[in-house]
Amino acid sequence: MTGPKPKSSSHPGLSAETLTAQALGNVDERTKALVPPIHPSTTFERDADGEYRSGRGYSRPHNPSYDEPESLLATLEGGSDCLLFASGMAAANAVFQSLLPGDHVVAPRVMYWALRKWLIESAMSWGLDVEFLDTSDLDQLRAAMRPGKTRLVWLETPANPTWDVTDIAAASVIAHEAGARVAVDSTVAPPVITRPIEHGADLVMHSATKYLNGHSDVVAGALVCREQDAFWNRVTAWRRDAGGVLGTFEAWLLLRGMRTLFVRVQRCSESALAIARHFGGHPKLHAVLYPGLPDHPGHDIARRQMKGGFGGMLSMRHRGGQAGAMETAARVNVFKRATSLGGVESLIEHRASIEGPSTPVPADLLRFSIGLEHPDDLIADLEQALDHTVADAHQDDHKTSSPPLNQGGDSLTHTVENLLAERVRPVAAERGGDLRVKAVTDGVVQLEISGSPGATFPLRAHITALIQHYVAADLEIAFLALDSDSGAESGSVAERITALLNDQINPAVSAHGGQIRLARIEQDVVYLTLEGGCQGCAMADVTLRQGVEVLIKEHVPEIVSVVDDTDHTQGRQPYFKTKKGM
Ligand code: PLP
Repeated sequence: MTGPKPKSSSHPGLSAETLTAQALGNVDERTKALVPPIHPSTTFERDADGEYRSGRGYSRPHNPSYDEPESLLATLEGGSDCLLFASGMAAANAVFQSLLPGDHVVAPRVMYWALRKWLIESAMSWGLDVEFLDTSDLDQLRAAMRPGKTRLVWLETPANPTWDVTDIAAASVIAHEAGARVAVDSTVAPPVITRPIEHGADLVMHSATKYLNGHSDVVAGALVCREQDAFWNRVTAWRRDAGGVLGTFEAWLLLRGMRTLFVRVQRCSESALAIARHFGGHPKLHAVLYPGLPDHPGHDIARRQMKGGFGGMLSMRHRGGQAGAMETAARVNVFKRATSLGGVESLIEHRASIEGPSTPVPADLLRFSIGLEHPDDLIADLEQALDHTVADAHQDDHKTSSPPLNQGGDSLTHTVENLLAERVRPVAAERGGDLRVKAVTDGVVQLEISGSPGATFPLRAHITALIQHYVAADLEIAFLALDSDSGAESGSVAERITALLNDQINPAVSAHGGQIRLARIEQDVVYLTLEGGCQGCAMADVTLRQGVEVLIKEHVPEIVSVVDDTDHTQGRQPYFKTKKGM
């Protein structure tokens, strides 16, 4: 049984504005209502012979309330099908989880933070080989492609929150030549201004929570595909089976919000441009980041790729560093201090403090979502807020990437160190660990890991592939937890496990205020308890299964399984913070 198709419709002679305002012009057949009814029914009647000729059986895959917003979005994006999801994250997840463990994925270094975090914490543990790079740099993108291995190039353009612009057409050519799909998170550039499929993308993703709905009152996500191919069938099956579906009232609200998409986005874009121009060269700011300004590095591509406006998102960098940025946010009266974007009200946010220590976002940056207020009110509000701030930055407010370790070794060591500093250490840091080059000898790169073993051990295949791809294909990579001459190699099973924990694992996790103890051994199963920072840690499971267990099995082959005997609910000092403000 399939749902009612096709989603995308052609309406010759009618503009996208007209189709959007009229939600494709559909009128309810039974009542002649111009506004479609909501269909809360979770289930649909079978025919007498047991068939579902209506094409609908159960609401999770086939709710009629999705039909109209999905058709409208597929039409606006020029795609062949659309699926709504419970959130933008659910939509993005469906794409990544339709890939297979081992697949290589390229994603922007600067991108929507929570998705980057999910890729690092969950997708990599699940086995995706995710590489972050500057996708606006086409040479970098080309160099990263591993034909036959790279399955997905994920783009976000303009990218949160520096609004780097990636040339979708050029990136698509590079990806397609390597046999990879291109998916574009087009949340900040809705189809009013960018239609990624026209530029060669295969999939378009939206956090419909933002511009598509536009009123800060619905969380929703959407995917649109160019072709309903086998991969799309997997995505469709994922939505049905993973169950991240949108509520029917939310789908109805979304369609209502979308009817005004064009006027909202056009107005937001005009105001954002006016505000960006006004504050360019302001004495308290050292940069205004907006793709509509000629000095933005992505301006020329944006002019080709974004039609009828550059969107409502912009950022400003305060000369007073983090303190100046925070002070500005504290003093606004019209802008609302809140996260999210694309709503009718204008928002201001200091992103670095939200995103945490591993963020690539500069500490002096403020992000603005421009809404529908009069731009003069917004300008006056920001002027008075900036007036009260100081333009001198403390030196440590200027974020620089951490210097490579072990400066001064030979050039191969140097190359590996730089690669790790660029592509691996930020990811490991996000997961609570770190690694450094101990030595490069006889074609073997020895990497020493520290912090949570679960932070780096699951990345071993990824790190090996990166070094072999960028440095030399025949290099061997050895991962050393700590000194290899610990007592872990001799004695009874219990003695060797205790030595391993004490010599190799606990020194690493002690940085988290954590400790892992041997509780008991029953036949070939070892029971461990996690204490201190490890006890309440959100990554404890990963640390144990993909870090500690791997190490124990490598050094103590008699052990077939490691069991966590910890009462995690009693954990009081979680190293790996799961909630803001903890
Ligand atoms: N992509 C971008 C660019 C976003 O800004 C967001 C949310 O802020 C998302 C994806 C995730 O969407 P949602 O919050 O609807 O899950």
